[in-house]
Amino acid sequence: AKQKGKRRFMFYNNSMEALVKSNLSVELELNKALKNGELVLFYQPIVDLTTSKPIGFEALIRWQHPEKGLIFPDAFIPVAEQSNLITEIGYWVLEAACKALPNFPPHIHISINVSARQFMDPQLATRMKQIIYQYHATPNRITLEITETLLIENIEQVVSSLKNLRDFGLGISVDDFGTGHSSLSKLKVMPISTLKVDRAFIMDLPDNKEDKELTEAILVMAQKLQLKVVAEGVETAEQRDFLVANQCNFGQGYYFSKPVPLDHALAYTERILIK
Ligand code: C2E
Ligand code: CA
Ligand code: CA
Ligand code: CA
Repeated sequence: AKQKGKRRFMFYNNSMEALVKSNLSVELELNKALKNGELVLFYQPIVDLTTSKPIGFEALIRWQHPEKGLIFPDAFIPVAEQSNLITEIGYWVLEAACKALPNFPPHIHISINVSARQFMDPQLATRMKQIIYQYHATPNRITLEITETLLIENIEQVVSSLKNLRDFGLGISVDDFGTGHSSLSKLKVMPISTLKVDRAFIMDLPDNKEDKELTEAILVMAQKLQLKVVAEGVETAEQRDFLVANQCNFGQGYYFSKPVPLDHALAYTERILIK
């Protein structure tokens, strides 16, 4: 029915037609890519800001296209999110992360991104647990990054899946925190362990007075709610110093490392940890 609606719309709007067509071809190609093993995970360290040592890595998907080269997620994840393809990609991501996990030292966790649409799958928690069992992965070494919108909608099924996964041992992080509208009261009752402060708040630190105050407020609130905080997009020593001075324990960003292939991430870990 949805498909028909799209086709009807095409008669009225040529640019829309082009967009639907190109999305359809991306979807078809992406489906093939998933089957042909063209998807890969890159890894970006999440570090303890006081020591600069990694405590975990965020897995970020890339499409190694045979002709077009490396394609970034912004070019294909939104398309995948329009169909159930994101569900299949999501399970592939978890599987790839589980396979990578034993290569890292045991105190290191891996965070994966989970799209809101994946929670529409009533089997999500069950299948995730199956995959984790299958690869003998330790649940508390895996963190799911979800977005604030998921918390606002507060559908019973979402909350019950999240609780289920949290009780199984997974960490739950709220990604891009501060860009959505989740209320404090909701944060308190949701099964979450970490806030990832969006790069937009970190970018202009420490010069921008407003961002400084907002970041300070988020950090104070997180401490009261006993949530861990990861600052996203840390690019300078000044940003790091400001964050450390305000008791922000963890950070991620180009200042430490860009997302890199698994072998690079492992070499980085070894190099940093023996220092
Ligand atoms: P995100 O989850 O917010 O990931 C952080 C993005 O910021 C990544 O972009 C990362 O490369 C970039 N980044 C990290 N540090 C810095 C920095 O210091 N400066 C700047 N300018 N950027 C930085 P990337 O890898 O292109 O991913 C974009 C988005 O695609 C992600 O945003 C996430 O929403 C989505 N995504 C990535 N992998 C997956 C996946 O496996 N599944 C799903 N559903 N979405 C994914
Ligand atoms: Ca993320
Ligand atoms: Ca983010
Ligand atoms: Ca983002």
